[in-house]
Order: sequence, then C-alpha cells, then structure tokens
Amino acid sequence: MSPPSPGDGLKFSRLTEYLGRLEETSSGNDMVQILSELFGEASPGEVDTVVYFVLGEVDAEYRHVVLGMGEKTVMDAIARASGRTREEVQGRFDELGDLGSVAEDLGLEGGETEQGYFAAEEPTVRDVHDGFMDIAEASGSGSQEEKIRILARMMSQEEGAERRYIARIATGTLRLGVGAMTILDGLSVAYVGSKDKRPRLEEAYNLCSDLGLVARTVAEANDEGGGEAALKAVAEIGVEIGRPIKMMLGQRLRRLSDIMEKMSGRAAAEWKYDGERMQCHKDGDEVEIFSRRLDDITSQYPDVAEYVRDRVDADTAIVEGEAMAVDEEGHMEPFQTLMQRKRKYDVEEYVERIPVNLFLFDLLYLDGESWMDRSYPDRRGRLYDVVETGGGVDLTEQIVSESQDEIDEFFERGLNEGTEGVMVKSVKEDSVYRAGAREWLWIKWKRDYMAELADTFDLVVVGALAGKGSRAGTYGALLCAAYNHDEDRFETLCKVGTGFTDEDLEELPGRLGEWETDSVPARVRSEIEPTQWFEPGVVIEVEGAELTRSPVHRVAEEEGKGLALRFPRFLRFREDKSPEQATTSREVRQMYEESRRRGR
Ligand code: ATP
Repeated sequence: MSPPSPGDGLKFSRLTEYLGRLEETSSGNDMVQILSELFGEASPGEVDTVVYFVLGEVDAEYRHVVLGMGEKTVMDAIARASGRTREEVQGRFDELGDLGSVAEDLGLEGGETEQGYFAAEEPTVRDVHDGFMDIAEASGSGSQEEKIRILARMMSQEEGAERRYIARIATGTLRLGVGAMTILDGLSVAYVGSKDKRPRLEEAYNLCSDLGLVARTVAEANDEGGGEAALKAVAEIGVEIGRPIKMMLGQRLRRLSDIMEKMSGRAAAEWKYDGERMQCHKDGDEVEIFSRRLDDITSQYPDVAEYVRDRVDADTAIVEGEAMAVDEEGHMEPFQTLMQRKRKYDVEEYVERIPVNLFLFDLLYLDGESWMDRSYPDRRGRLYDVVETGGGVDLTEQIVSESQDEIDEFFERGLNEGTEGVMVKSVKEDSVYRAGAREWLWIKWKRDYMAELADTFDLVVVGALAGKGSRAGTYGALLCAAYNHDEDRFETLCKVGTGFTDEDLEELPGRLGEWETDSVPARVRSEIEPTQWFEPGVVIEVEGAELTRSPVHRVAEEEGKGLALRFPRFLRFREDKSPEQATTSREVRQMYEESRRRGR
C-alpha cells in the first residue's frame, strides 16, 4: 500500500460537522449514534486520530504529548491569522470567554498573506494532526514563535468552525462531554454491530490505555473480516512494556467481618500503605514508572527506578507496589512527607532528603509473558522469587488466613507501624489481575471506616499477653471480660492492645501485680490462654468499633460463639469501679442486638 497523499481521507471540515453535532447533544444515545456514523466515514488508518480529536487530545493520554501552548500563545496565533492586534483578540476573549469562539468569530479578512500550512487545499484530519505534532515537536529557543507561526498558518487555511476546534484543541479546552465509554460504545456499534460487545473492547482498553489503538484495531479487522474478526483482533491486544495497564482497584466494605464472608472464608490480608501507587515497567536497564492516573512519574523517582532496575531479576517485567517515605531506620512516614517528592526541580536533593521504599505486591508481566491471568498466590509467589528485597524494595506485609481474629490482629499491628488499613485479596483460582476493575477480588478496609460504637465498655482485666517487637518485656495486650451478673462470672470480650500511652504501659505492672495468679481464676470464662492470669480486680474503659460473633470469646455464647468487641482501644483506668460494676454481659448482648437492628 502506498502512503496516502495529502488531501486523501476524511476532511477536517467533515469531522468538524460531527464535533458540532456532538456539542449540541447531551444525550448519551445520540452521542453513540453520531460517533458510530463518524467512525463509519473514517478509514481504519485515521480512526485513531479521529478518536483523539473527539476527546480533545492528539495522542493516547498516557503519552502526554505536550503542545506547549498556553492561552497567550494561542491568542498570538489568532491575532496573526486574523490580522488583529493582541489587544483586540484579548478583548473578544474577555467577552466570549472561549478562544475557540474568538478564532471563529474574528475571520481572516485582514490575516497574514503567508501561505497556509497544509499542502492540500482542504486539509484532512491527518493533515491537522500532523500540524499539531509539529507544534509539539518545536522545542528549544525560538520554539514559542515557531508554535505560534504553525498554528496561525493552520488556522489561516480553515473556515470558522474548523478554527474553533483547532483553537480548542490547542488550548486543551475541547470538552464535548464524550467519555471513554461512549467512544467504546460508538466503536462497538460501528465495527462490531452492537453496543452489547462494549465490555470486550473495554477489556482491551484497560490493558493498553489507548482508545486510539482499540479503534484502529477493530476498524482494520472489521475491514478485512467483519464484526467477528474485529472482536478477535481486539482480544489479541496484549500487554506491552512501556504502555501502562489500568490499575486494579478494590471494593470497599463497611464491616471487616463481611469481607471474610465475601472471600468465602480465606484470604490474603495485606497492609494498606498510605503512599503512592506505582506501576513499574522494566525493560533491561530501562525503567518507567506510572502513577495511579497513568502519568509517567519516572523523573520524580529516579531512586525507585534504580531499585527496580537492580532488584527485580528479569529482562522485562511489570510490577506494582506502593511507595512510602521512610526515615533513616526504615520507619514509615506519613503520606504528606512523600508528597514533597512530587516536584520538577531539586529532585536529587529530595531523593536524599526523603528516602522512599517501594512495597511491591503484584506481578503483571515477566520476561515476555503476561501473568495477569494467573491467580494471586501464583503471581505473588513468582514476585517473591524475582525480587531481591532490601535496599529500597520490599514485599507488602501479608498473611493468608481463615481467621478473622488473626486478620484483626494483623490490621492493628499495621496501624501501629503507620499503615492506614488492610487490603484483603482473594486467593482463589480465579483471583486474576483484572485491569481497571473495581471488583470483589480486592476489598479495602481502612481505619477510617471503623464505625465506633456509641458507648464505651468498662471491662475487667483477667489476663495479659506478652508483648512483641517494641513492646517486648512488657504486656502486649490485656485480656478483658464483661461481667455476667446472672451467673456471677467474668466472660472474655476482647484483647486490648492499642490506645496505651508509654506512661500507661509503664503503670501496668504496678496496677496489675497484686492480682497475678498462676491459673485461670475461678469465676473467669476464657478460651484464650494468656501469658499471665489476673484475679478480677482492675477495670479499664475501652472503646471499640463493632460487636461480632467469635469462637474465641465467651460473652452471650450461642452455639460455641460468643460476642467479641472488635478493634478495642484503651481509654483509661477506672479506679472508681469494682469488677462487679463492669459492663455486664447482658448489656453487651443488648448493644449487639441494637446494632444488628440498625443494620450495621
Ligand atoms: P482507589 O485506588 O481504590 O480508587 P483511592 O485512590 O481512594 O482508591 P484508597 O481508597 O486509599 O485509594 O485505596 C486503594 C489504594 O491503596 C490502591 O490504589 C493502592 O495505591 C493502595 N495500596 C496500599 N497498599 C496496598 C496493597 N497492599 N495492595 C494494593 N493496594 C494497596
């Protein structure tokens, strides 16, 4: 096939008519109809450009082609094309509020006589696109003047309506209200036959993040073999290094206990780091990093790029993780600290000042092969093999568990380390990486979701568990019980491990020492075997997030499960209360029933 000669193909003026029609309607169905007609007129080789223009862009979003024209330079170009002064153009702009309308309105009567930009008399969509690419490529000294000159010459060859859209594309203000999904609907109707198949196109779009590529693929295949061929071709759009994949997202649920139900009882729980999501593409020594919005952020994080280059043992790979600012000892810093790394200048200085650690959690592609269709345990297992941890890279902290209590504990441990919650992920066979999807394979649960119960609890300390990590040598958590008045016994409700200040922790041995005992006290009912038992004596006030059924606690027991207080936090010692004045088991049950009635 010989390359198209200038003037061949869809005229820009024809596209303009469609843009006008799209601008006039707000009905989604009408838009799809108009788009499908438009796509029907475009040839496969130009339909990608048509798509970009409809979106007000000149290329796939992730490529970030920068035209580098602000309002002022576009005004200069309009002034030149129309033979008006800058002040006149500014005046019209103040009146109309849109440079597109100004460009249309001012006419060309007094314009430059310099010849137009396009070889063809009637420029095509592709010609105009070439013009914009020339504008984008003009760089270095004198480039502003060059950009103005090109745009002025482009406009001087066009009619009013075309100038309107050219000016809007130049300023990045063409907003027709057409979203990606509407484009995909239009493509489905035009090339596959109906809107029903849009999800198949959407899948491809999520993989390649380029609507133009999807459009060209379906148009070309349709040209050769019709709708079926188009669907087949689009299914073959695969992963490519350097082309960001839309990130998989998590659903959210209010109650952590509902999450385990959704996951059919077994799941991977991971700390949810409050940093910045990164999708890292490695190709030999080259590493590119994409943000959650698919922006290329490599230049902001040369350190992270280096870690991935050095520590991911693969020729090509796509890995995902969350970057966190860390202090010299590797402790996580708050999100705001990391945000100081979002800068254009002084990058190297800030690499030193605010070191970053990348916590990887997923593997999407490895040495020429997509891993997205494998289960999460497979992906994670392979990730573990190819990543050499340390030196700026770790894997996210994870447990795979069937036990709600274990996950609760894991969640709390994370909070103490500075995380903001957990991501619970399916570990079933079908736990694939679903690009761009927000589904139940991942469920996020944050500290902020903890709906605190209205009332606090006064509970009796009946045991203590030895501390780990920074709490080694002191008590890590207190086993606490409510008072069953009818049977005069103490039934465990929770283990309290958070909310203590350093002073509180120091006071604990003094306050509890006199109540120590070697075995389970007579009136205490507990499934848990603490490190140290205490006779009922000390009462503490505790707040919590919710009451649930649990096999490990004993309050209001039914069929082997008692009530448990989830995410309890220590508030203060209640010296004024005796153990028998603690919150009763009956009160706990009433609160539980009350919260069920409210549907929480
Ligand atoms: P979303 O990204 O789901 O639209 P959002 O931007 O508001 O939502 P959050 O609600 O805070 O973010 O939660 C999701 C984000 O948590 C992910 O996009 C990712 O950046 C981050 N994250 C932190 N730790 C993990 C982890 N272990 N696994 C997956 N994502 C994690």
